[in-house]
Amino acid sequence: MSQLRLNPLTGRWVAIAAERASRPGDFAPPLDSPRPHLRCPFCPGHEEETPPALETYGRSGDWLVRVVPNLYPAFEGKGEWAVEDLGPVFHQAPGTGIHEVLVFSPDHRGSWADLDDKQVGLVIAAIRDRMEDHAEQASIRYTQTIVNHGREAGASLDHPHGQLLGIPFVPDELQAELEGFSARDEPCVLCTTLAEEEDAGHRVVLADERVTVVCPFWSATPYEMLILPRHHEAHLAHAAPADLVSTSRAVRDSLAAMGRLVGDVAYNLVFHTAPHHSTDRFHWHVHVLPRLTSAAGFEAGTGVLINIVAPEQAASDLRRA
Ligand SMILES: [Zn+2]
Ligand SMILES: [Zn+2]
Ligand SMILES: [Zn+2]
Repeated sequence: MSQLRLNPLTGRWVAIAAERASRPGDFAPPLDSPRPHLRCPFCPGHEEETPPALETYGRSGDWLVRVVPNLYPAFEGKGEWAVEDLGPVFHQAPGTGIHEVLVFSPDHRGSWADLDDKQVGLVIAAIRDRMEDHAEQASIRYTQTIVNHGREAGASLDHPHGQLLGIPFVPDELQAELEGFSARDEPCVLCTTLAEEEDAGHRVVLADERVTVVCPFWSATPYEMLILPRHHEAHLAHAAPADLVSTSRAVRDSLAAMGRLVGDVAYNLVFHTAPHHSTDRFHWHVHVLPRLTSAAGFEAGTGVLINIVAPEQAASDLRRA
């Protein structure tokens, strides 16, 4: 089991998951394999190479989306959040939780950008279902859904997949966003952002009646995008099916535009939703974070990211793409 350790300088938790070092790149094929997709554990026909599926979507025997436990989980097992003090500055807690892989297409090639309309609906429905499942486990406070695309973004396997990590605490990034909602006068900082960005117009990448995609005013990386469902809802799992489908389609269309503009770049998709059972103010959303530049010493030292493409320019480029 992994271990959480508190950095008393920053108040941030770090997960020490040494077992993950033994993974052949999550599930990756041997490097000498000449045609890696023939050895891919996520391809149809290789279902026995992963733990049994927790959920499959599509006709039986012919899955379209598949959720499996991660073979090398960063968080694992049940158990309440329990911080142990080993000394004045050594604080640790067991890394309990859930770590799942979401195989979101049977097609080895391609990515979220290539999914058809039916598939975008199934993928987001699978995410919602897993979130609901995680919420039923008392020790899971928050579930982070991510997609890492490309090696520079941390993907260890090419087959299109995401991950769901149910963890026993509310992580720092989410806590900071929650404070962004609670510290301000307006009822919802993202509803206001949506209205103000649409009013300004020039950072909007695409919009329909249910969702808006912007290169946010405060974009920290080139071509960063924020996907905002219009309907105010704190929890992804409580969103209306039509809002989920539109948001998933907007993820696809944003990624496709980015691909046409800058090629098949590495990126992270980050789904932010309120902690399970939380009644705090929040508005669920998705971040698209392209890995076009790498953070250097200044960013590591200060937390201040330097973005070399203004979001106004990025949005204009993406709209034309
Ligand atoms: Zn595959
Ligand atoms: Zn809102
Ligand atoms: Zn966020």
